[in-house]
Amino acid sequence: MFNNWKIFEDNLGFVPSEEIKDKLSEYYKILVEENLKYNLTRITNEEDVYEKHFLDSLLFTKETKIDNQKIIDIGTGPGFPGIVLKIFFPETDITLIDSNNKKINFLNIVIKKLSLKQIEAKHARAEELARIENEKYDIAISRAVAYLDVILELAVRFLKVQGKLILLKGPRADEEITNSKNIDQKLKIKLINKQSLADTGFGERINLFYEKEKSTPELYPREYAKIVKESGKK
Ligand code: SAM
Repeated sequence: MFNNWKIFEDNLGFVPSEEIKDKLSEYYKILVEENLKYNLTRITNEEDVYEKHFLDSLLFTKETKIDNQKIIDIGTGPGFPGIVLKIFFPETDITLIDSNNKKINFLNIVIKKLSLKQIEAKHARAEELARIENEKYDIAISRAVAYLDVILELAVRFLKVQGKLILLKGPRADEEITNSKNIDQKLKIKLINKQSLADTGFGERINLFYEKEKSTPELYPREYAKIVKESGKK
């Protein structure tokens, strides 16, 4: 049974309620049970899942107020950060998308067992769904899905003008910014904040916050193969 709530208090400024703790515990149980079938995560030790997945999914909330926004989590995998956000901020309206249907099946089990409301898991590719769900969201968020210029292009069309694009990145985010050159001008977005998190045992983390300044030019997002081919990734 996980009990190192101090790490949540130290990093988020509060200890989760009993209801949140129960939901996290149930989520962890389902994750480990279904991991054999769905191959969801290499991290399965309880302490590690709470720290490296659950807590890591929330650290950005110190920089941005989360209440009742409409949020899309792109490439959510087993639900990071989307399911964790829903557990902590039940008043949000969350769409989880992933191109891998096994992940969606798993997420639907979690949503049902935890009785989560106002949350939907969709089997979709971001670059295709973005054209359908054009400018529908207040926040688009994504963790560990693609190189910076790739994920920016996949995500930006989902956002309303002035919506926020939040990317949970590893220590090489600065290098990715440099290599992504003038992608922000092309996509009409602006980097407004960078949150550098010290290594607390699971590596240095950098979270990037962009704001959409204008509607996305018709060209974007392009086909996935083209986006990747022209990425600045070295
Ligand atoms: N966000 C989760 C996390 O932090 O653990 C999962 C990260 S996993 C490395 C990347 C996920 O993105 C995979 O589940 C993959 O199927 C999904 N993905 C990759 N490209 C995608 C795309 N174009 N559209 C939707 N999902 C995509």
